[in-house]
Amino acid sequence: MATPTEHAVVSVSAYNRWSHCTAAPRFEEQFPAESNVYTEEGRLAHSVCELYARKYFTVMSTRKFNSELKKLKEDPMWQDEMVKCAEIYLATLKEAANGFTTAPIVAFEERVDLADYIPEGFGTCDCAMVGDDVLRVFDYKHGKGVFVSSVNNGQMRLYALGMLKKYYPLFGDTIKRVCTAIVQPRITEEITEEWISVDELLTWAETSVIPQAQMAFYGLGSFEPGEWCKFCRGRAQCRGRAEYYAGFSEYTATQIEGRLTESDWGARQLAAEYGADVPPVLDDDEVADLLIKAAGLVDWYEDLQEYARSAILAGHVIPGWKVVEGKRQRAFTDADAAMKRILDAGYDKSLLYDYKPKTLAQLEKLTGKTQFGELVGDLITLPPGKPTLAAESDKRPPYQPTAPGPGEFAGEQDGRSAE
Ligand code: SF4
Repeated sequence: MATPTEHAVVSVSAYNRWSHCTAAPRFEEQFPAESNVYTEEGRLAHSVCELYARKYFTVMSTRKFNSELKKLKEDPMWQDEMVKCAEIYLATLKEAANGFTTAPIVAFEERVDLADYIPEGFGTCDCAMVGDDVLRVFDYKHGKGVFVSSVNNGQMRLYALGMLKKYYPLFGDTIKRVCTAIVQPRITEEITEEWISVDELLTWAETSVIPQAQMAFYGLGSFEPGEWCKFCRGRAQCRGRAEYYAGFSEYTATQIEGRLTESDWGARQLAAEYGADVPPVLDDDEVADLLIKAAGLVDWYEDLQEYARSAILAGHVIPGWKVVEGKRQRAFTDADAAMKRILDAGYDKSLLYDYKPKTLAQLEKLTGKTQFGELVGDLITLPPGKPTLAAESDKRPPYQPTAPGPGEFAGEQDGRSAE
């Protein structure tokens, strides 16, 4: 096995990307690694979670715990919310540990060797527990932008494969089942889990990981744009992605089963080229395909804009484009002093400030879930959400409009038409 570098070429955390776009790992090598405030926040939040978990599951004095926590709090990225997140993470681990018939072996931040599946592959597993015939693997996610489920999650399955290998000398074939779980408390306190047998996991690795990882590592892959582009380092300058989004008029195929076939699109194009009668109005099958094809169009254009802006500021010439100063907004140099002067001039305070309650979620955070329920639980209602377009694969059931009551038809409430 080659000596692992700090960042694997085909990395576990990028599984969703390279399992679809096998060209991505080698393509991304030419772009610098991205570090931003979110990755730094995530790093610190992981350390807080680990500290809380080690305090509970290992021998650690309160003095040591407090001094470690103090150090973490000195980090400029510190947020008080991280303690609450760590408590939720710890509660999940405790509950899982209680589910074993005897106390499980618990490991934190274990580096796992994945070279059996991914050339030079390795990763770090946040937490793993082994007991009875079960291996449990946990991952903490601090992001609140994108919800990540543990179900069918390749990254989590890879951690499980790595931990199985690690524990094999100790447990041999006694581990029969695996449960992966993701804790993402800033989005939801519900924990997503996937239970899978070891046999299924190994079959998945053979069929879905090894072939893709080989192509990706040895530079034999192909470009396959999709929603996974959004975290790719080359997303702004990738020709494959640009051709995909810029070439909508050149439809030749569709990946969606049961909708338009390649020959459907081909026939329409040919007809258009020869001036035959192609309906100017898209039909519903075409709309269905375009919704899939165009899903990442806005993201792609924004990535392109961001690249051009940075490139021009760095001295590149992007023909036909320049960077200008955005709209200026006036601001007080000292808002308190400004307010005082206006008040002193005789204006009433109520005219100077907007007074509005905090949101329900902010108030719940303030009081804690239990007290919040006791205080105002009976005053909370959950009105139906707006009808929202979603892919057929979305887990939510189809929207069921509530039947309007007598005289409640849209636009006719007052006996008047909406027009
Ligand atoms: S931007 Fe998308 S298509 Fe291009 S290499 Fe990255 S993942 Fe692949």
